[in-house]
Amino acid sequence: MMKDKTILWVIVPCYNEEKVLPITAPLFREKIKSLVDNGKISDDSRILFVNDGSRDDTWNIICELSRQDGHFIGIEQSRNRGHQNAVLAGLMEAIEKADITISIDCDGQDDINAMDEMIDRYYEGCDIVYGVRSNRDTDTWFKRTTAQSFYRFMNYMGVEVVYNHADYRLVSTKVLREFSNYREVNLFLRGMFPLVGFKSTSVYYKRYDRVAGESHYPLRKMLALAFDGITSLSIKPITMITEIGIAVSLFGFVLLVWAIIRAYQGDTVAGWASLTCIVCFLGGIQLISLGIIGQYVGKTYLETKHRPRYIISNRTWESEDEIR
Ligand code: UDP
Ligand code: MG
Repeated sequence: MMKDKTILWVIVPCYNEEKVLPITAPLFREKIKSLVDNGKISDDSRILFVNDGSRDDTWNIICELSRQDGHFIGIEQSRNRGHQNAVLAGLMEAIEKADITISIDCDGQDDINAMDEMIDRYYEGCDIVYGVRSNRDTDTWFKRTTAQSFYRFMNYMGVEVVYNHADYRLVSTKVLREFSNYREVNLFLRGMFPLVGFKSTSVYYKRYDRVAGESHYPLRKMLALAFDGITSLSIKPITMITEIGIAVSLFGFVLLVWAIIRAYQGDTVAGWASLTCIVCFLGGIQLISLGIIGQYVGKTYLETKHRPRYIISNRTWESEDEIR
């Protein structure tokens, strides 16, 4: 691999970050410089800010940065669409121009020094490198607990996510090209990249405090993201309805046997046994039926995403002529 030719684009989503950008932008720039000096990336590498419809001075700051130094570039979303869409917009912008991308928050929480290791892993053959938090000391107890339950719950609900990985991630444009065939509009990037496949690994880093400003991810938004992730990537909730239905029916059946026995013993009010049986049985059957209908709805839902049915990562030949 031609080491010095690798073009890196750092994708940085920004929403109302006027306090943060003046502090972190020079840090990103220094990182690029040191990576270039170490011969890891090309000097044609760029830091792409994606302004996510900020209402403050963020866009002006980005424009000013790009005037001062050609390594800074920026795009703006027409309105606030959320972090996931901002990252996607940046990644898609990089597809034709970069060799590798690293998405990272602009608030200094993700340690930029992990980039060196991420790029090393890329040279070792990994096309996706997940940045994983090794600590959460700086998060409050509440944020830490809710965030960690978030990953557990996601996995339980059938969404494959890398534990403690947010959206700090190196992705090669080879993977991005395949990823661009995932045309769904409900985005949960950290759950979608594992679906694409390719060789991947994790790099561990320390998570710091925000350098300035406030988090835009309160519990409410985090729950919304989790709900989005589950309903976009998994039909496990529907399967759970079917399972509950089966459990209720079984319970109904046991109750039925018991009701019949009690009726034969003759110490019940007339009609009680038959009524109990009907109620339990019907309840169970209704839930099972709902679950079965749900399975079809779920399958239809997954079909509407038109995801690629297979992705080829390697071939033994380079050009078509070789195999003719
Ligand atoms: N962000 C964005 N659009 C939004 C909310 C956040 O682009 O609607 C960006 C934000 O500028 C930051 C990153 O997403 O670079 C992570 O947001 P934040 O730091 O507020 O979340 P936290 O780190 O607290 O989870
Ligand atoms: Mg943050």
